[in-house]
Amino acid sequence: MVEEKNCPVCGASSFKTVRNAPYFRGEKEYFTIQECQECKLWITNPRPEDDDLGKYYESEDYVSHTDKKESLIDKVYHLVRNIAVKGKIRLINDVVAQKGKLLDYGAGTGFFLKAAQDNGWQVTGVEPSAEARRNAKENHNLDLVDPDSYDWSSENKLDCISLWHVLEHLPNLSNHIKNFHTALRAGGKLIIAVPNHESYDAQKYGNAWAALDVPLHLYHFKKKNLEDIAERFGFRVKEIRNMPFDSFYVSMLSEKIARGKINYFRAVWTGLISNLKAASQKNASSLIYVLEKVK
Ligand SMILES: [Zn+2]
Repeated sequence: MVEEKNCPVCGASSFKTVRNAPYFRGEKEYFTIQECQECKLWITNPRPEDDDLGKYYESEDYVSHTDKKESLIDKVYHLVRNIAVKGKIRLINDVVAQKGKLLDYGAGTGFFLKAAQDNGWQVTGVEPSAEARRNAKENHNLDLVDPDSYDWSSENKLDCISLWHVLEHLPNLSNHIKNFHTALRAGGKLIIAVPNHESYDAQKYGNAWAALDVPLHLYHFKKKNLEDIAERFGFRVKEIRNMPFDSFYVSMLSEKIARGKINYFRAVWTGLISNLKAASQKNASSLIYVLEKVK
């Protein structure tokens, strides 16, 4: 196991345990989430060694690496993904003045990247899973690259970098943010979608909230954390948007974790309340942050 001694955002070394959450994609195992007492970032701590993390992704349940359609919950995932991808394309066109160079970091099977390419963007994608890269090639003729092969040395080349539910998975958080900052042009946009543990569904399910997703999620963010990251690494938070579908999907998974089976009515009801509460406060189950490179 790896134990973080210092917070990757503020460097402080004082932590308090806030959650003890189960791994739910395979044989049950519990992981501790600690809160930095300085900046309040939540960290899965301790966590498995980088080389051991792979096995937690190998579960049949990890749908974002495949395009299979099987259980109802997978079908919902794929249906929602079709609608959500249109929203993501609208968002990048909204926040970036002119279609240019887009990097999708953690591109999965390339579903979003293909839609962006069809929409007129010049696209590149990084994806660590070889299986996902193969699927992207087969299904969308996209050549995604392994994270180790991506060239971070050329500066100011990109108009937009997107991370759709990826930042929370990345070891070496601060190195990644520095790389994104280098690669973006001034005024370029870093779009980060991550779960929000201040949402209603997160509060309701506590340790069973599926979007804690330990140990795959190494960090657990709230709005303040992204504001701190922006300030420390040369960005400003330009906009925050709710992701309305995630609360339903996450509530379904959370029902299964909490009670062993899914009560669809309760999951949909929780998702609905979560979205109603989020509408005015920008506090949905997942949030999209648009960060702009300022210097
Ligand atoms: Zn901190």
